[in-house]
Amino acid sequence: MKYINEEKINSLLLEAKNADSAKLNAILDKSRCLKRLTLAESASLLAVDDPRYLHKIFEAASFVKDTIYGRRVVLFAPLYISNLCVNNCLYCAFKSDNPLIRRKALTVTEISSQTEWLLKRGHKRILMVCGEAAPGGRSNIDYYLEAVKAIYAAQAGSNKIKRVNVNCAPLGVDEFKRLKASGIGTYQIFQETYHEGTYRRMHPNGPKSDPDNRIDSVDRAFSAGIDDIGIGALYGLYDYRFETLGLLSHVEHMEESFGVGPHTISVPRVEPAQGADLSFNLPHKISDEEFKKVVAVLRLSVPYTGIIMSTRESPAMRDSILSLGVSQISAESSTSPGGYTSPEKEKAGGQFSLGDHRSLDEIVCALIRHDYIPSFCAACYRMERTGESFMKLARPGTIKGKCSMNALITLKEYLDDFASGPVKTAGCAMISRYFKQLEPLEQDKLRSFFSHVADGVRDEYV
Ligand code: SAM
Ligand code: SF4
Repeated sequence: MKYINEEKINSLLLEAKNADSAKLNAILDKSRCLKRLTLAESASLLAVDDPRYLHKIFEAASFVKDTIYGRRVVLFAPLYISNLCVNNCLYCAFKSDNPLIRRKALTVTEISSQTEWLLKRGHKRILMVCGEAAPGGRSNIDYYLEAVKAIYAAQAGSNKIKRVNVNCAPLGVDEFKRLKASGIGTYQIFQETYHEGTYRRMHPNGPKSDPDNRIDSVDRAFSAGIDDIGIGALYGLYDYRFETLGLLSHVEHMEESFGVGPHTISVPRVEPAQGADLSFNLPHKISDEEFKKVVAVLRLSVPYTGIIMSTRESPAMRDSILSLGVSQISAESSTSPGGYTSPEKEKAGGQFSLGDHRSLDEIVCALIRHDYIPSFCAACYRMERTGESFMKLARPGTIKGKCSMNALITLKEYLDDFASGPVKTAGCAMISRYFKQLEPLEQDKLRSFFSHVADGVRDEYV
Protein backbone atom coordinates (compact mmCIF):
# COMPACT_ATOMS: atom_id res chain seq x y z
CA MET A 1 0.00 0.00 0.00
CA LYS A 2 1.30 3.47 -0.88
CA TYR A 3 2.98 5.48 1.92
CA ILE A 4 2.92 2.52 4.31
CA ASN A 5 6.17 0.63 4.85
CA GLU A 6 5.06 -2.70 6.33
CA GLU A 7 8.59 -3.99 6.82
CA LYS A 8 9.57 -0.91 8.79
CA ILE A 9 6.41 -1.10 10.94
CA ASN A 10 7.02 -4.78 11.71
CA SER A 11 10.64 -4.22 12.68
CA LEU A 12 9.71 -1.21 14.87
CA LEU A 13 7.12 -3.37 16.62
CA LEU A 14 9.71 -6.08 17.24
CA GLU A 15 12.34 -3.65 18.58
CA ALA A 16 9.74 -1.90 20.75
CA LYS A 17 9.41 -4.91 23.01
CA ASN A 18 12.87 -4.17 24.44
CA ALA A 19 12.13 -0.67 25.77
CA ASP A 20 13.24 -0.38 29.43
CA SER A 21 11.69 1.89 32.04
CA ALA A 22 14.25 4.68 31.49
CA LYS A 23 13.32 4.79 27.82
CA LEU A 24 9.57 4.76 28.52
CA ASN A 25 9.95 7.55 31.10
CA ALA A 26 11.92 9.63 28.59
CA ILE A 27 9.17 9.19 25.99
CA LEU A 28 6.48 10.24 28.46
CA ASP A 29 8.56 13.29 29.49
CA LYS A 30 8.82 14.27 25.83
CA SER A 31 5.03 13.89 25.47
CA ARG A 32 4.39 16.12 28.43
CA CYS A 33 6.28 18.85 26.52
CA LEU A 34 3.60 18.41 23.79
CA LYS A 35 6.19 17.13 21.31
CA ARG A 36 5.19 14.85 18.47
CA LEU A 37 6.53 11.30 18.97
CA THR A 38 8.48 9.32 16.39
CA LEU A 39 7.09 6.03 15.06
CA ALA A 40 9.67 4.15 17.16
CA GLU A 41 8.56 5.97 20.33
CA SER A 42 4.88 5.30 19.63
CA ALA A 43 5.74 1.64 19.02
CA SER A 44 7.45 1.45 22.43
CA LEU A 45 4.32 2.77 24.15
CA LEU A 46 2.09 0.37 22.20
CA ALA A 47 4.23 -2.55 23.42
CA VAL A 48 3.52 -1.73 27.09
CA ASP A 49 1.36 -4.27 28.94
CA ASP A 50 2.50 -3.70 32.52
CA PRO A 51 -0.47 -2.04 34.34
CA ARG A 52 1.86 0.36 36.22
CA TYR A 53 3.23 1.74 32.95
CA LEU A 54 -0.16 1.73 31.30
CA HIS A 55 -1.33 3.93 34.15
CA LYS A 56 1.56 6.34 33.48
CA ILE A 57 0.65 6.44 29.79
CA PHE A 58 -2.99 7.22 30.67
CA GLU A 59 -1.92 9.98 33.06
CA ALA A 60 0.33 11.58 30.44
CA ALA A 61 -2.48 11.39 27.84
CA SER A 62 -4.89 13.18 30.20
CA PHE A 63 -2.29 15.84 30.85
CA VAL A 64 -1.74 16.45 27.12
CA LYS A 65 -5.48 16.51 26.42
CA ASP A 66 -6.18 19.02 29.16
CA THR A 67 -3.22 21.20 28.22
CA ILE A 68 -4.12 21.50 24.54
CA TYR A 69 -7.88 21.16 24.47
CA GLY A 70 -8.95 22.14 27.99
CA ARG A 71 -12.08 20.45 29.34
CA ARG A 72 -14.31 20.91 26.32
CA VAL A 73 -15.75 18.04 24.25
CA VAL A 74 -17.38 18.80 20.90
CA LEU A 75 -20.68 17.07 20.08
CA PHE A 76 -22.02 16.05 16.68
CA ALA A 77 -24.55 13.68 15.10
CA PRO A 78 -24.09 11.49 12.03
CA LEU A 79 -26.68 11.83 9.28
CA TYR A 80 -26.85 8.75 7.06
CA ILE A 81 -28.32 9.85 3.75
CA SER A 82 -28.14 6.51 1.92
CA ASN A 83 -27.29 2.85 2.44
CA LEU A 84 -26.96 2.03 -1.28
CA CYS A 85 -23.49 0.70 -1.97
CA VAL A 86 -21.54 -0.91 -4.80
CA ASN A 87 -18.81 -2.25 -2.53
CA ASN A 88 -18.72 -5.47 -0.59
CA CYS A 89 -16.76 -4.70 2.59
CA LEU A 90 -16.98 -7.88 4.63
CA TYR A 91 -17.69 -6.06 7.92
CA CYS A 92 -20.47 -3.68 6.82
CA ALA A 93 -24.24 -4.22 6.59
CA PHE A 94 -24.39 -1.92 3.54
CA LYS A 95 -22.26 -4.40 1.50
CA SER A 96 -23.79 -4.87 -1.92
CA ASP A 97 -24.46 -8.61 -1.60
CA ASN A 98 -26.38 -8.26 1.70
CA PRO A 99 -30.06 -9.10 1.04
CA LEU A 100 -31.04 -8.69 4.71
CA ILE A 101 -31.34 -4.91 4.90
CA ARG A 102 -33.93 -2.58 3.39
CA ARG A 103 -32.20 -0.13 1.01
CA LYS A 104 -32.97 3.56 1.06
CA ALA A 105 -31.53 6.81 -0.30
CA LEU A 106 -33.09 9.91 1.25
CA THR A 107 -34.65 12.57 -0.95
CA VAL A 108 -33.88 16.24 -0.40
CA THR A 109 -37.12 16.62 1.54
CA GLU A 110 -36.26 13.66 3.75
CA ILE A 111 -32.74 15.02 4.36
CA SER A 112 -34.29 18.33 5.43
CA SER A 113 -36.68 16.66 7.85
CA GLN A 114 -33.93 14.51 9.40
CA THR A 115 -31.83 17.67 9.86
CA GLU A 116 -34.76 19.54 11.41
CA TRP A 117 -35.23 16.69 13.88
CA LEU A 118 -31.56 16.94 14.89
CA LEU A 119 -31.77 20.74 15.14
CA LYS A 120 -34.75 20.44 17.47
CA ARG A 121 -32.72 18.23 19.80
CA GLY A 122 -29.97 20.87 19.94
CA HIS A 123 -27.44 19.56 17.41
CA LYS A 124 -25.31 22.09 15.48
CA ARG A 125 -22.74 19.86 13.78
CA ILE A 126 -23.49 17.02 11.39
CA LEU A 127 -21.34 14.29 9.91
CA MET A 128 -22.99 13.31 6.63
CA VAL A 129 -22.40 9.60 5.84
CA CYS A 130 -23.40 7.35 2.94
CA GLY A 131 -22.64 4.20 1.00
CA GLU A 132 -20.88 4.45 -2.36
CA ALA A 133 -23.76 4.77 -4.82
CA ALA A 134 -26.23 7.52 -5.65
CA PRO A 135 -29.94 6.92 -6.27
CA GLY A 136 -31.33 6.87 -9.81
CA GLY A 137 -27.92 6.26 -11.42
CA ARG A 138 -26.85 9.86 -10.69
CA SER A 139 -23.25 10.79 -10.03
CA ASN A 140 -22.23 10.48 -6.39
CA ILE A 141 -20.91 14.01 -6.19
CA ASP A 142 -24.16 15.56 -7.46
CA TYR A 143 -26.09 13.65 -4.79
CA TYR A 144 -23.65 14.65 -2.02
CA LEU A 145 -23.80 18.33 -3.04
CA GLU A 146 -27.58 18.31 -3.06
CA ALA A 147 -27.54 16.74 0.42
CA VAL A 148 -25.02 19.22 1.89
CA LYS A 149 -27.10 22.09 0.53
CA ALA A 150 -30.29 20.67 2.08
CA ILE A 151 -28.59 20.21 5.48
CA TYR A 152 -27.28 23.80 5.57
CA ALA A 153 -30.65 25.14 4.41
CA ALA A 154 -32.70 23.33 7.08
CA GLN A 155 -33.95 25.47 9.94
CA ALA A 156 -35.70 24.92 13.27
CA GLY A 157 -36.69 28.30 14.72
CA SER A 158 -33.52 30.37 14.53
CA ASN A 159 -31.31 27.27 14.70
CA LYS A 160 -29.28 26.11 11.71
CA ILE A 161 -26.50 23.59 11.25
CA LYS A 162 -23.14 25.31 11.61
CA ARG A 163 -20.83 22.71 10.16
CA VAL A 164 -21.33 19.71 7.88
CA ASN A 165 -18.46 17.22 7.81
CA VAL A 166 -18.59 14.48 5.22
CA ASN A 167 -17.59 10.81 5.32
CA CYS A 168 -17.91 9.47 1.79
CA ALA A 169 -16.10 7.37 -0.77
CA PRO A 170 -13.00 8.69 -2.59
CA LEU A 171 -13.54 11.40 -5.21
CA GLY A 172 -11.43 12.99 -7.95
CA VAL A 173 -9.74 16.38 -7.47
CA ASP A 174 -12.40 18.31 -9.40
CA GLU A 175 -15.15 16.62 -7.42
CA PHE A 176 -13.36 17.47 -4.17
CA LYS A 177 -13.18 21.10 -5.34
CA ARG A 178 -16.94 21.11 -5.74
CA LEU A 179 -17.38 19.49 -2.32
CA LYS A 180 -15.19 22.17 -0.73
CA ALA A 181 -17.13 24.92 -2.52
CA SER A 182 -20.33 23.56 -0.97
CA GLY A 183 -18.98 24.66 2.43
CA ILE A 184 -18.10 21.36 4.08
CA GLY A 185 -15.87 21.32 7.15
CA THR A 186 -13.84 18.14 7.43
CA TYR A 187 -13.59 15.47 4.74
CA GLN A 188 -13.30 12.17 6.53
CA ILE A 189 -12.15 8.87 5.08
CA PHE A 190 -10.95 5.80 6.96
CA GLN A 191 -8.36 3.54 5.38
CA GLU A 192 -10.00 0.75 7.45
CA THR A 193 -6.78 -1.31 7.59
CA TYR A 194 -3.23 -0.27 6.75
CA HIS A 195 -2.20 -3.90 6.21
CA GLU A 196 -2.37 -4.53 2.48
CA GLY A 197 -3.12 -8.28 2.56
CA THR A 198 -5.94 -7.73 5.04
CA TYR A 199 -7.22 -4.76 3.02
CA ARG A 200 -7.49 -6.87 -0.11
CA ARG A 201 -9.29 -9.69 1.74
CA MET A 202 -11.77 -7.33 3.41
CA HIS A 203 -12.65 -5.49 0.18
CA PRO A 204 -13.06 -8.23 -2.42
CA ASN A 205 -14.76 -6.19 -5.14
CA GLY A 206 -16.05 -2.78 -6.14
CA PRO A 207 -14.03 0.44 -6.43
CA LYS A 208 -12.99 0.21 -2.78
CA SER A 209 -10.93 -2.91 -3.51
CA ASP A 210 -8.00 -0.67 -4.60
CA PRO A 211 -6.13 0.39 -1.42
CA ASP A 212 -3.97 2.95 -3.23
CA ASN A 213 -6.93 4.78 -4.70
CA ARG A 214 -8.38 5.03 -1.19
CA ILE A 215 -5.24 6.28 0.55
CA ASP A 216 -4.59 8.72 -2.32
CA SER A 217 -8.01 10.29 -1.89
CA VAL A 218 -6.58 12.16 1.11
CA ASP A 219 -3.91 13.65 -1.14
CA ARG A 220 -6.50 14.52 -3.79
CA ALA A 221 -8.69 16.24 -1.20
CA PHE A 222 -5.68 18.29 -0.04
CA SER A 223 -4.81 19.23 -3.63
CA ALA A 224 -8.40 20.37 -4.07
CA GLY A 225 -7.97 22.76 -1.14
CA ILE A 226 -9.71 20.78 1.61
CA ASP A 227 -7.24 21.18 4.45
CA ASP A 228 -9.27 19.69 7.33
CA ILE A 229 -9.00 15.96 6.73
CA GLY A 230 -10.07 13.16 9.06
CA ILE A 231 -8.46 9.74 8.84
CA GLY A 232 -9.09 6.53 10.78
CA ALA A 233 -8.56 2.80 11.09
CA LEU A 234 -11.30 0.27 11.73
CA TYR A 235 -10.04 -1.71 14.71
CA GLY A 236 -10.64 -5.47 14.71
CA LEU A 237 -9.50 -6.31 11.18
CA TYR A 238 -5.75 -6.61 11.87
CA ASP A 239 -3.30 -6.27 14.78
CA TYR A 240 -4.07 -3.03 16.66
CA ARG A 241 -0.39 -2.11 17.10
CA PHE A 242 0.26 -2.40 13.36
CA GLU A 243 -2.87 -0.36 12.55
CA THR A 244 -1.85 2.41 14.95
CA LEU A 245 1.63 2.66 13.41
CA GLY A 246 -0.05 2.54 9.99
CA LEU A 247 -2.22 5.51 10.97
CA LEU A 248 0.83 7.37 12.27
CA SER A 249 2.78 6.60 9.07
CA HIS A 250 -0.14 8.09 7.15
CA VAL A 251 0.09 11.19 9.36
CA GLU A 252 3.83 11.45 8.56
CA HIS A 253 3.06 11.23 4.84
CA MET A 254 0.51 14.05 5.16
CA GLU A 255 2.91 16.23 7.14
CA GLU A 256 5.71 15.65 4.64
CA SER A 257 3.54 16.27 1.57
CA PHE A 258 1.21 19.01 2.76
CA GLY A 259 2.89 20.50 5.82
CA VAL A 260 -0.07 19.60 8.01
CA GLY A 261 -1.37 16.41 9.60
CA PRO A 262 -4.98 15.27 9.85
CA HIS A 263 -7.51 17.49 11.62
CA THR A 264 -9.00 14.43 13.31
CA ILE A 265 -8.34 10.74 13.81
CA SER A 266 -11.23 8.33 14.33
CA VAL A 267 -10.89 5.02 16.11
CA PRO A 268 -13.97 2.97 15.22
CA ARG A 269 -14.08 -0.63 16.43
CA VAL A 270 -16.02 -3.09 14.29
CA GLU A 271 -19.53 -3.55 15.71
CA PRO A 272 -21.99 -6.32 14.84
CA ALA A 273 -23.56 -5.59 11.45
CA GLN A 274 -26.61 -7.50 10.19
CA GLY A 275 -25.71 -9.74 7.25
CA ALA A 276 -21.96 -9.14 7.61
CA ASP A 277 -20.68 -12.37 9.18
CA LEU A 278 -17.15 -11.12 9.67
CA SER A 279 -18.36 -8.45 12.08
CA PHE A 280 -19.50 -11.21 14.48
CA ASN A 281 -16.28 -13.16 14.20
CA LEU A 282 -13.42 -10.70 14.10
CA PRO A 283 -9.92 -11.81 13.12
CA HIS A 284 -8.23 -9.37 15.57
CA LYS A 285 -10.69 -8.38 18.26
CA ILE A 286 -9.23 -5.62 20.40
CA SER A 287 -9.95 -5.65 24.15
CA ASP A 288 -11.18 -2.62 26.08
CA GLU A 289 -7.79 -2.15 27.79
CA GLU A 290 -5.93 -2.35 24.48
CA PHE A 291 -8.38 0.10 22.97
CA LYS A 292 -7.80 2.59 25.77
CA LYS A 293 -4.06 2.23 25.21
CA VAL A 294 -4.51 2.99 21.49
CA VAL A 295 -6.41 6.20 22.24
CA ALA A 296 -3.84 7.29 24.82
CA VAL A 297 -0.89 6.53 22.52
CA LEU A 298 -2.51 8.46 19.67
CA ARG A 299 -3.10 11.40 22.02
CA LEU A 300 0.59 11.39 22.94
CA SER A 301 1.86 10.77 19.41
CA VAL A 302 -0.08 13.55 17.65
CA PRO A 303 -1.04 15.90 20.48
CA TYR A 304 -2.59 18.58 18.23
CA THR A 305 -4.96 16.26 16.33
CA GLY A 306 -8.58 15.85 17.43
CA ILE A 307 -9.67 12.31 18.34
CA ILE A 308 -13.23 11.25 17.59
CA MET A 309 -15.22 8.60 19.44
CA SER A 310 -18.58 7.53 18.07
CA THR A 311 -21.67 5.96 19.62
CA ARG A 312 -20.29 2.57 18.54
CA GLU A 313 -18.84 2.47 22.07
CA SER A 314 -20.84 1.86 25.25
CA PRO A 315 -21.61 4.75 27.66
CA ALA A 316 -19.15 3.33 30.24
CA MET A 317 -16.33 3.08 27.69
CA ARG A 318 -17.07 6.53 26.27
CA ASP A 319 -17.16 8.14 29.68
CA SER A 320 -13.92 6.46 30.77
CA ILE A 321 -12.01 7.14 27.56
CA LEU A 322 -12.73 10.87 27.43
CA SER A 323 -9.93 11.62 29.85
CA LEU A 324 -7.43 9.80 27.61
CA GLY A 325 -7.65 12.28 24.80
CA VAL A 326 -10.95 12.18 22.96
CA SER A 327 -12.01 15.67 21.86
CA GLN A 328 -15.18 14.99 19.81
CA ILE A 329 -18.03 12.55 20.34
CA SER A 330 -21.23 11.76 18.49
CA ALA A 331 -24.52 11.71 20.37
CA GLU A 332 -27.93 10.14 19.87
CA SER A 333 -26.94 8.58 16.56
CA SER A 334 -28.81 6.50 14.04
CA THR A 335 -26.94 4.62 11.29
CA SER A 336 -30.12 4.06 9.31
CA PRO A 337 -31.10 6.53 6.53
CA GLY A 338 -34.24 8.26 7.83
CA GLY A 339 -33.71 6.56 11.20
CA TYR A 340 -34.23 9.69 13.33
CA THR A 341 -37.90 9.93 12.45
CA SER A 342 -38.96 6.48 11.15
CA PRO A 343 -40.81 4.14 13.48
CA GLU A 344 -38.72 1.03 14.31
CA LYS A 345 -40.60 -1.37 12.01
CA GLU A 346 -40.23 0.90 8.96
CA LYS A 347 -36.54 1.65 9.39
CA ALA A 348 -34.18 1.15 6.46
CA GLY A 349 -31.17 -1.03 7.29
CA GLY A 350 -28.68 0.43 9.75
CA GLN A 351 -24.94 0.07 9.16
CA PHE A 352 -24.07 -1.60 12.48
CA SER A 353 -25.46 -1.79 15.99
CA LEU A 354 -24.71 1.00 18.42
CA GLY A 355 -23.31 0.80 21.92
CA ASP A 356 -24.65 4.10 23.25
CA HIS A 357 -28.39 4.80 22.97
CA ARG A 358 -28.56 7.81 25.30
CA SER A 359 -30.29 11.00 24.19
CA LEU A 360 -28.27 14.16 23.58
CA ASP A 361 -29.63 15.56 26.84
CA GLU A 362 -28.42 12.47 28.76
CA ILE A 363 -24.99 12.67 27.14
CA VAL A 364 -24.70 16.39 27.93
CA CYS A 365 -25.68 15.50 31.51
CA ALA A 366 -22.99 12.78 31.74
CA LEU A 367 -20.33 15.14 30.34
CA ILE A 368 -21.19 17.78 32.92
CA ARG A 369 -21.12 15.17 35.69
CA HIS A 370 -17.59 14.21 34.63
CA ASP A 371 -16.61 17.90 34.49
CA TYR A 372 -16.35 18.12 30.69
CA ILE A 373 -17.80 21.19 28.97
CA PRO A 374 -20.17 20.08 26.18
CA SER A 375 -19.44 22.24 23.14
CA PHE A 376 -21.50 22.88 20.00
CA CYS A 377 -18.91 25.26 18.61
CA ALA A 378 -17.87 25.50 14.96
CA ALA A 379 -15.97 28.78 15.23
CA CYS A 380 -12.58 27.61 13.95
CA TYR A 381 -13.97 26.53 10.64
CA ARG A 382 -16.03 29.67 10.23
CA MET A 383 -13.09 31.93 11.15
CA GLU A 384 -11.06 29.94 8.60
CA ARG A 385 -8.90 28.50 11.38
CA THR A 386 -8.47 25.30 9.39
CA GLY A 387 -5.50 23.24 8.20
CA GLU A 388 -2.16 24.83 9.03
CA SER A 389 -3.66 27.95 10.67
CA PHE A 390 -5.61 25.72 13.09
CA MET A 391 -2.49 23.69 13.81
CA LYS A 392 -0.47 26.86 14.55
CA LEU A 393 -3.00 27.68 17.26
CA ALA A 394 -3.38 24.11 18.48
CA ARG A 395 0.32 23.26 18.72
CA PRO A 396 1.27 25.57 21.58
CA GLY A 397 -2.06 24.95 23.29
CA THR A 398 -3.52 28.43 22.61
CA ILE A 399 -6.68 26.99 21.07
CA LYS A 400 -7.69 25.98 24.59
CA GLY A 401 -8.67 29.52 25.66
CA LYS A 402 -10.82 30.17 22.59
CA CYS A 403 -12.36 26.70 22.72
CA SER A 404 -13.30 26.97 26.38
CA MET A 405 -14.90 30.40 25.85
CA ASN A 406 -16.84 29.18 22.79
CA ALA A 407 -17.81 25.97 24.58
CA LEU A 408 -19.31 28.02 27.44
CA ILE A 409 -21.23 30.29 25.02
CA THR A 410 -22.66 27.35 23.06
CA LEU A 411 -23.44 25.44 26.27
CA LYS A 412 -25.40 28.45 27.53
CA GLU A 413 -27.37 28.49 24.24
CA TYR A 414 -28.07 24.76 24.56
CA LEU A 415 -29.20 25.12 28.18
CA ASP A 416 -31.56 27.99 27.33
CA ASP A 417 -33.05 26.35 24.24
CA PHE A 418 -33.07 22.57 24.69
CA ALA A 419 -31.96 21.23 28.06
CA SER A 420 -34.22 19.42 30.52
CA GLY A 421 -34.62 20.98 34.00
CA PRO A 422 -31.90 18.98 35.83
CA VAL A 423 -29.38 19.41 32.99
CA LYS A 424 -30.05 23.14 32.95
CA THR A 425 -29.35 23.36 36.69
CA ALA A 426 -26.15 21.27 36.43
CA GLY A 427 -25.02 23.21 33.33
CA CYS A 428 -25.55 26.62 34.93
CA ALA A 429 -23.53 25.49 37.97
CA MET A 430 -20.75 24.36 35.62
CA ILE A 431 -20.76 27.70 33.81
CA SER A 432 -20.40 29.66 37.06
CA ARG A 433 -17.58 27.37 38.17
CA TYR A 434 -15.63 27.96 34.97
CA PHE A 435 -16.53 31.65 34.87
CA LYS A 436 -14.76 32.15 38.21
CA GLN A 437 -11.54 30.66 36.79
CA LEU A 438 -11.33 33.26 33.99
CA GLU A 439 -9.25 36.46 34.01
CA PRO A 440 -11.33 39.62 34.69
CA LEU A 441 -11.12 40.73 31.04
CA GLU A 442 -12.36 37.36 29.82
CA GLN A 443 -15.13 37.43 32.43
CA ASP A 444 -16.30 40.80 31.05
CA LYS A 445 -16.30 39.41 27.53
CA LEU A 446 -18.23 36.30 28.52
CA ARG A 447 -20.71 38.30 30.61
CA SER A 448 -21.52 40.35 27.54
CA PHE A 449 -21.93 37.22 25.35
CA PHE A 450 -24.25 35.72 27.97
CA SER A 451 -26.41 38.84 28.06
CA HIS A 452 -26.78 38.56 24.27
CA VAL A 453 -27.80 34.89 24.64
CA ALA A 454 -30.40 35.93 27.24
CA ASP A 455 -31.73 38.46 24.70
CA GLY A 456 -32.16 35.68 22.15
CA VAL A 457 -29.01 36.31 20.09
CA ARG A 458 -27.53 33.01 18.87
CA ASP A 459 -24.36 31.83 17.25
CA GLU A 460 -21.77 34.30 18.56
CA TYR A 461 -18.18 33.17 19.01
CA VAL A 462 -14.60 34.34 19.44
N1 SAM B 1 -19.04 4.18 2.29
C1 SAM B 1 -17.98 5.07 2.54
C2 SAM B 1 -16.72 4.36 2.89
O1 SAM B 1 -16.74 3.18 3.16
O2 SAM B 1 -15.71 5.06 2.92
C3 SAM B 1 -18.26 6.07 3.62
C4 SAM B 1 -19.16 5.79 4.74
S1 SAM B 1 -18.96 4.26 5.66
C5 SAM B 1 -20.63 4.16 5.93
C6 SAM B 1 -18.19 4.89 7.13
C7 SAM B 1 -17.31 3.97 7.92
O3 SAM B 1 -18.09 3.05 8.67
C8 SAM B 1 -16.38 3.07 7.17
O4 SAM B 1 -15.26 3.78 6.71
C9 SAM B 1 -16.03 2.01 8.21
O5 SAM B 1 -14.84 2.32 8.90
C10 SAM B 1 -17.18 2.09 9.20
N2 SAM B 1 -17.84 0.79 9.38
C11 SAM B 1 -18.29 -0.04 8.44
N3 SAM B 1 -18.81 -1.16 8.99
C12 SAM B 1 -18.67 -1.03 10.33
C13 SAM B 1 -19.01 -1.87 11.44
N4 SAM B 1 -19.56 -3.07 11.30
N5 SAM B 1 -18.74 -1.42 12.69
C14 SAM B 1 -18.15 -0.20 12.86
N6 SAM B 1 -17.82 0.62 11.85
C15 SAM B 1 -18.07 0.22 10.59
FE1 SF4 C 1 -20.17 0.46 1.38
FE2 SF4 C 1 -18.70 2.00 3.02
FE3 SF4 C 1 -20.11 -0.08 3.98
FE4 SF4 C 1 -18.00 -0.54 2.51
S1 SF4 C 1 -18.02 0.50 4.52
S2 SF4 C 1 -19.99 -1.54 2.26
S3 SF4 C 1 -18.08 1.16 1.05
S4 SF4 C 1 -20.92 1.76 3.05
